[in-house]
Amino acid sequence: MPIRNKLKSEPCAIVRKLVESGYEAYIVGGAVRDLLLGREPKDYDIATSASPEEIRAVFGRRNSRIIGRRFRLTHVFFKKDIYEVSTFRRCPTEDERRGREDDRDGMIWRDNEFGTLEEDAARRDFTVNAMYYDVIGDRGVIDFSGGQKDLKRKVVWAIGDPVQRFTEDPVRMLRAVKLCGQFDFHLSREVSKALKAMREKITLASSSRLFEELLKILCSSKAELVLSRLQAYGLLEYIWPVMSQSWEESEGVLARQLLSIRDREVSAGNLGNSRGLALATPCLPFLMSALNPQDMTAFWKRDANTDATAEKAIRLIFDGYALPKFFANRIRNICYLVPRLLARPVSPRALSHIEYRHARALVAMLVEIFSWNDNILAVLPEINVAVPPLPAQSEDAIDDADAGVIPAIPHKRRRRRPRGTRKPSAASSQGA
Ligand code: ATP
Ligand code: MG
Repeated sequence: MPIRNKLKSEPCAIVRKLVESGYEAYIVGGAVRDLLLGREPKDYDIATSASPEEIRAVFGRRNSRIIGRRFRLTHVFFKKDIYEVSTFRRCPTEDERRGREDDRDGMIWRDNEFGTLEEDAARRDFTVNAMYYDVIGDRGVIDFSGGQKDLKRKVVWAIGDPVQRFTEDPVRMLRAVKLCGQFDFHLSREVSKALKAMREKITLASSSRLFEELLKILCSSKAELVLSRLQAYGLLEYIWPVMSQSWEESEGVLARQLLSIRDREVSAGNLGNSRGLALATPCLPFLMSALNPQDMTAFWKRDANTDATAEKAIRLIFDGYALPKFFANRIRNICYLVPRLLARPVSPRALSHIEYRHARALVAMLVEIFSWNDNILAVLPEINVAVPPLPAQSEDAIDDADAGVIPAIPHKRRRRRPRGTRKPSAASSQGA
């Protein structure tokens, strides 16, 4: 399958610049996998022999930045996008890992030993994710571990011993199941056995990384399929307990119905990949029952009591995660708008709300699920949201911009502390 013609030009230009500067560089990971499957990659990762400092020297300090501690990599800003450029890694030796305080119980918390191309391939998670594409030279797909064969067989095969690889980094279990949901793959016998034996170890992973993966899953166009596989493999109960426990209950069933319609619409290009909508979609049924168990179409009177109940419900849905306040506000604002769009007449303020198109998308999903009268949608003008998927960073920027315009939930204004005075510390307030 020739993929050269399908590659986006920007990542190729980054690879070219690195090679012209005397380094090895390739497209790697998910992008190669997706292109071989005939899909358009959601993002491109680049691997190179250049160290993070050398990458910065090639692209200039203004166009790049080094990020991460556990895994240092370089962001290269190119045109309007950001590309992750990682330096070839190798597995740390036993000697190197001895004495590291944070590498407990076989887990690898830092992964910053640089190596060769072949060593880099050996420390990637699965064979289908460990292929490189040589954009500049004539090597084509570089595949040390049989990834192409596994892609054809639709199997998730670990690189090395799955028990050891899952011990080093339990998030790999989640990534294995995600591949199954995304591409209808199955786990190899060894991977499946290791996962069944070790699934509760997923809780050893940091909650911020798990939330990041959960968010990526929800934002994808396969959220419902991936969550179903996570539930079937017994991982969801650790990653998203509320969803797992409500799986067969009315909230869980409705959340899955909503997600599968949202997935379909995102795949068809009818909905953009807004994080606000991705989070609000599965939350809506839970908020509905928290706020008004009798009638889900009833208008939720917005007062301090409702706000507090909604806030508590959202916190409970993402129990165990430090859900950023900004996301919590967006979920609440989108869900609050739904009954306002169902009320007649619809208030002009609701129609011009910054989250209108997302709330309208939810109303359209409800109309489909409950076979409500199509007239409900007729008075809600459609806004064309067929936008190309945005890279994570630029969507953050949009999300942040949105946040400023969302009508604020009534809250007490904080009084400014006069300059030069400091908030009393916990110690001093205790009289220390
Ligand atoms: P997606 O389509 O979700 O971006 P991806 O496979 O590209 O899928 P990324 O998180 O972008 O996922 O990671 C890029 C590549 O880095 C992977 O394809 C894999 O080779 C490697 N990788 C990512 N996470 C791990 C991990 N926990 N352990 C080993 N290798 C990893
Ligand atoms: Mg990727």
